[in-house]
Amino acid sequence: MQITHQHVVRFHYTLKDDTGEVIESSRDRQPMTYLHGHNAIIPGLEKALEGKTQGESFSVTIPPEEAYGPRRENAVQRVPIKHLQGAKKWKPGMLAWVRTEQGPLQVQVLKVGKFMADVDINHPLAGKALTFDIEVLGVRAATPEEIDHGHVHGAGGHHH
Ligand code: ZN
Repeated sequence: MQITHQHVVRFHYTLKDDTGEVIESSRDRQPMTYLHGHNAIIPGLEKALEGKTQGESFSVTIPPEEAYGPRRENAVQRVPIKHLQGAKKWKPGMLAWVRTEQGPLQVQVLKVGKFMADVDINHPLAGKALTFDIEVLGVRAATPEEIDHGHVHGAGGHHH
């Protein structure tokens, strides 16, 4: 079965940056499961998976525009340290979560003062070309309910 719109795809991935360094891998945990055609994963990866079949392995390099977007300059903001979530003590270079009106945002800590911290609100992977090593583990047609909800149900998806 081929990956097309309204199919549920299960795959393993290893993500590397443009120097070949591994950023993360699903092989350390569960495979990724998503509903194809619903913008659940970055656009370049969804495009690369289109038409692939169960058992296929491939590598794809995705430019920033089709991944997490370009890095924006002047994206440094000063926020109260107590608004940073994810650790007790903060040092430059650490990643933190900040609640915003648009939902949680991952930021990089640049400077830590007594009460305030300077953070870069660019996504940590913004501006980077990303290489994914992919192994497609499973492809199945989505159920009408999954299509209606726009996400996967059961293993690796929503339980409700
Ligand atoms: Zn649902």
